[in-house]
This record gives sequence, C-alpha cells and structure tokens, in this order.
Amino acid sequence: MDELIKKMAEEGYVPGIPGSMETANHAVEVELCANSICEKCGHEGLEYVPFVDHASQDFRAFSFCPNCDNAEEL
Ligand SMILES: [Zn+2]
Repeated sequence: MDELIKKMAEEGYVPGIPGSMETANHAVEVELCANSICEKCGHEGLEYVPFVDHASQDFRAFSFCPNCDNAEEL
C-alpha cells in the first residue's frame, strides 16, 4: 500500500475522494472490491483505495490486495 500511495503522491494524488462525489457511490465500490479476487494471488477480499488530485479534482481508484500488494486501477 505504501508504494501505491507514494507513486500516486508523485503524480499529485492523495488518498481520498473529491468533495463533489457521492459517498454512496463509494460504498458500492467498497462492497465490490471486498467480494473480488486478486488476479495475481487469488486472495479474496480486496481493498478499495480512492485517490484525488485536489488541484484538478481529478479522481482515480484502485483495488488493492492486502495479501500480495497488487493494485489494479478501476
Ligand atoms: Zn494478491
């Protein structure tokens, strides 16, 4: 997770969601990730990790595997 956060920070993103976004939408994503299986190691139960660039309000999200640290952009 640290590596993903560091990589995104270099591009100007910090963990979080834009203020304009509905948190309800994210609850759905959290649920989807929790029921997903890692493509790399087959671990079930991924973390939803949203990032926001506060300057541009640009938004990117990843599913993150707590078992093998694999991150897939959603
Ligand atoms: Zn994995």
